[in-house]
Amino acid sequence: MVNKKLLHICDACCEGQLHPKTSMKTTEYRGIQSEYILYYSVCDVCKAELADGSDMLKNKREFIRLKKKIDDIPMGSEVLALRKKHNLTQSLAAKIFGGGPVAFSKYENDDLIPDESMVSLLKLAISCPDTIQSLAQIKMITLPGQELIIKPKMNKAKKTNELWMDAAKLDFSLAIENFDTINKEALCLEDVYSIAA
Ligand SMILES: [Zn+2]
Repeated sequence: MVNKKLLHICDACCEGQLHPKTSMKTTEYRGIQSEYILYYSVCDVCKAELADGSDMLKNKREFIRLKKKIDDIPMGSEVLALRKKHNLTQSLAAKIFGGGPVAFSKYENDDLIPDESMVSLLKLAISCPDTIQSLAQIKMITLPGQELIIKPKMNKAKKTNELWMDAAKLDFSLAIENFDTINKEALCLEDVYSIAA
């Protein structure tokens, strides 16, 4: 059995083969004339011009890119660059910015125009890199790389606390053993700390 799709057989005449073609077209959006690429296929027998699912997807993306350009909305490539710059996966980016688990795949492929609030957030994050950190903090999300910085800090704080508790114990035992000495000489806190460490 011949697979029509695989051979790209023309749906119009069922004889000829379809060959992919592109042509530059002009359209007007918001009073601005812009050029875009139109994707389609041409039959070598009946000369019919047809667009299959893949052509239609490419055409839709072309139109979205054109709209984004004119409406000053970050392009898919800019959103991708922003995400890569901060080492975020698409799902982590969606947790930080909102928009659902597949939102970033759609923004980056120019399959979807983000809504107004998302556009503002994305523009802010592109112009001011600290935005992602602030958003992550609000949502209590740990950013990639931050685990490495936070953990030792927490360990250090814990260790310091333990050392101070040891120092306090040492202080107490020293106080009992050397009551007279300590009574005469003020115990230097730094000395106790260095003994405990
Ligand atoms: Zn045909």
